[in-house]
Amino acid sequence: MGSDIRQLKVFFFPFMAHGHMIPSLDMAKLFGSRGVKTSVITTPANALYLSKAIERANEMGVEIDMKLIKFPSVEAGLPEGCENVDAITSNGGRNMELVLKFFMATTKLQQPLELLLKECKPDCLVADMFFPWATDAAAKYGIPRLVFHGTSFFSLCVMRCMALYEPHKKVSSDSEPFLVPNLPGDIKFTRNQLPDNMKQDDAETHITRLMEAVRESDMKSYGIVVNSFYELEPAYADYYRNVLGRKAWHVGPVSLCNRKIEDKALRGKQASIDEQECLKWLNSKKPNSVIYVCFGSVANFTSAQLMEIALALEASELQFIWVVRRNKIGEEEKEDWLPEGFEKRMEGKGLIIRGWAPQVLILDHEAVGGFVTHCGWNSTVEGVTAGVPMVTWPVAAEQFYNEKLVTEVLKIGVAVGIQKWSRIAGDLVNKETIEKVVKDIMVGEKAEEMRSRAKAFGEMAKRAVDKGGSSYSDLDALIEELSLASPFKQTN
Ligand code: UDP
Repeated sequence: MGSDIRQLKVFFFPFMAHGHMIPSLDMAKLFGSRGVKTSVITTPANALYLSKAIERANEMGVEIDMKLIKFPSVEAGLPEGCENVDAITSNGGRNMELVLKFFMATTKLQQPLELLLKECKPDCLVADMFFPWATDAAAKYGIPRLVFHGTSFFSLCVMRCMALYEPHKKVSSDSEPFLVPNLPGDIKFTRNQLPDNMKQDDAETHITRLMEAVRESDMKSYGIVVNSFYELEPAYADYYRNVLGRKAWHVGPVSLCNRKIEDKALRGKQASIDEQECLKWLNSKKPNSVIYVCFGSVANFTSAQLMEIALALEASELQFIWVVRRNKIGEEEKEDWLPEGFEKRMEGKGLIIRGWAPQVLILDHEAVGGFVTHCGWNSTVEGVTAGVPMVTWPVAAEQFYNEKLVTEVLKIGVAVGIQKWSRIAGDLVNKETIEKVVKDIMVGEKAEEMRSRAKAFGEMAKRAVDKGGSSYSDLDALIEELSLASPFKQTN
């Protein structure tokens, strides 16, 4: 870089939930590794989840820092220190009233964001979709705002087509399938699988208004960054850009910026298992012999559902790692979601991680041969990158869309058969069904076929982020364009 050229400065502002913060930090690292000076904007309690990874990145010569703004928890009627969705949903609970208060509290971040932008003058702001007001905040200072949705091109296309053509309003029942019009592929959903805010009887909620604002701010923003790679979903990447006319850059899979064990282990919360212990356990297993079960950082399951999963894992005779978002209770206390003596019987065969698992470290291990996932996009793309077939178990958000991509477009997964979108895992899936689907992706000819397709996508993912690959080049193009578009390029 010539001395007269100002170093590009990009700010990342993720929504305060792990599924948003983790990929945003990965993106900041990615931009940082190309010589961009990056900052992650967050709140004091969330700094805890980022600081070690940032320190490590700095040691490796990647320029990232944190900018802190106060989160108005108490003012918004939330408990003091409640600054992350995790604080509302961990250990089994999900209080919708608190979730709404949380969303309301985030709208109060516009003013501190504006002050920060005024003072620091970044060349670009990559702000979360849940902060639609960030486009106007950035525009005040002439700063281009990119939106980070944290989902696939496929889901972005589905959402746009649903908004444009409203096929869900033309069916007569919640269980009648409808086709998503004009979308490549024969993609069908039922109204049951849509988020509550899209159902006709739920028209005027806060979430509906928020999603409307998200759509509007998308249109006004400079463009969109996507944690995906072109080869994974070319028809939808093309459709999104060429037919829906949105400016988008694919830069993923962003998790691949974490090459070393230490980096993989530092994503998100402090893991509830020592990474070396976890690796030792996996090292003792044969390739593709372990199924990994984890439903992300928000979804919660009832004790009855967890019990069915436990019984199914035992009956399947497969080796497994199962992550459960429940705290460990006292030695003598019986956990109501586990069959009597389960862990003793499973010793050496199955590992339960209560709390937080180093997910990418686990998925990337050669012993792991399958993944039961809720289809959060990060988990989905991490599963793709690891080259493992998946059992799809969507719960909420746009997870039913991602499921379709995995099972019907990519054909690397089997659906467990959830029919209904729900804020807390809804349909009870019985142990026989779970046992069948986990075996379907782990053993037999069909499983091998899916595994080899998944492995091929995993290889493509790695090539995409390597020098000259599609994501590598798109990031280059984005950085170049931002350098030219910068309102501050003349100043130093
Ligand atoms: N994750 C993890 N350990 C866990 C649970 C989740 O590392 O025990 C990470 C996972 O790797 C992913 C993110 O948290 O990067 C979850 O994002 P996703 O989009 O899959 O789901 P969400 O949590 O948003 O529902």
